Amino acid sequence: MRGILMLALAVLVAAETRYDGFKVLRIEPLEILDSTWLSDIESKVEFWSNVPGRPVDIMVPPELEDEIVSFLRSKKLDFSLMIGDVQAVIDGQRSTMRSRTRTQGLADFKYDQYNTYDQINQWVSDMATEHSDVVTKFTVTQSYEKRLIDGIKISTGGNNKPVIWFEGGIHAREWISPATVMLISKFLVEDLKNSDPQVVQLVNYFDFYIVPSLNVDGYAFTWSDDRLWRKTRRPNPGYGCIGTDPNRNWPYKWGGSGTSPWPCSITYHGGKALSEVEVKGVVDFLTNLSVGNEIRMFIDWHSYSQLWMAPWSFSSSEQNPVDWLDQSNLGQAAVQALEEVHGTTFVSGMSAKLLYEASGASCDWGYAVLGAKYSYVVELRDKGNYGFLLPEDQIMASGEEAYKATLAAVEYAMNN
Ligand SMILES: [Zn+2]
Repeated sequence: MRGILMLALAVLVAAETRYDGFKVLRIEPLEILDSTWLSDIESKVEFWSNVPGRPVDIMVPPELEDEIVSFLRSKKLDFSLMIGDVQAVIDGQRSTMRSRTRTQGLADFKYDQYNTYDQINQWVSDMATEHSDVVTKFTVTQSYEKRLIDGIKISTGGNNKPVIWFEGGIHAREWISPATVMLISKFLVEDLKNSDPQVVQLVNYFDFYIVPSLNVDGYAFTWSDDRLWRKTRRPNPGYGCIGTDPNRNWPYKWGGSGTSPWPCSITYHGGKALSEVEVKGVVDFLTNLSVGNEIRMFIDWHSYSQLWMAPWSFSSSEQNPVDWLDQSNLGQAAVQALEEVHGTTFVSGMSAKLLYEASGASCDWGYAVLGAKYSYVVELRDKGNYGFLLPEDQIMASGEEAYKATLAAVEYAMNN
């Protein structure tokens, strides 16, 4: 028995995906149009960031390092080392996290640390218990692995108020997203209870629905097995690769540009739109909520690159949405308010132009189908010093600046 247990433990430990010797290289951009070389190395490296006009960040496994470096030199591309050993950064961050005791109750919740799925879910319950006058808990759905996807509603009462929807953590490894979304919630509730006039006005006008962690199975997996996991955790029958990119799985322009039909790709769009129960759950929840309530704003919080992006996401050649002027003005107001807090610069604009084309993404669905006039995808810190491995000492600043951006955005949405 003991032997079997030890064996099982050994298998579990061995199962953890490690990134020993993996490097992240930062390639300086050439002329914007000359990026054909990207496709030459696409199958060999993992792209961390690929924003037009900015450096391209790629993660390179040690056995391919020589080949990739020769290739980049042959193309006369300038590059530098962004992370010398990905596993060393992960280990360094994890060593402090593993020695921690679990938090007890809301007063003890560590907003300035990354929290596990269990801690986040407990936080949702504690918010509702401790602030029962303005916060209630709701459940979106159950994940593929039967975890609850919970959120909080912040409301001062009243019926049929316009809705603000925030969701964090659709991509599992983007840990700053749930952390920032929880901080926004905390500041909002505190300022409301402190009778901050602006916040009182905003919450009297809107109901806020906030889900800190949407891709809960993927998130749990980033803690237990693979810090850089992005997708859901549902197996793909007939393939060894697990998971679908939940932000390519929404039922609008599904399966088009910027997605992959290959289950092993990190942008795999799934066998059909809404194949992922987590995405189906949100779509059903919001569709029901939109009966009798106008969904005014929908924000899907991601990292990294410091961008505030509006539709369209599926095509860069599509005409601007009819609400573009307001969508764009709100984005400008948000990034300006954000910068005033810590000097962090974000850029706002159309998603497919600022970033890249991505079909079946949440922000297009939020606008075109759900009818949220102000639908955005926000890429939080940083601009590529740590990428997905953003250190915990930046969490508070990220929350503070994103909160001010939120207030500016919601105020604009109230007045327009
Ligand atoms: Zn993302």
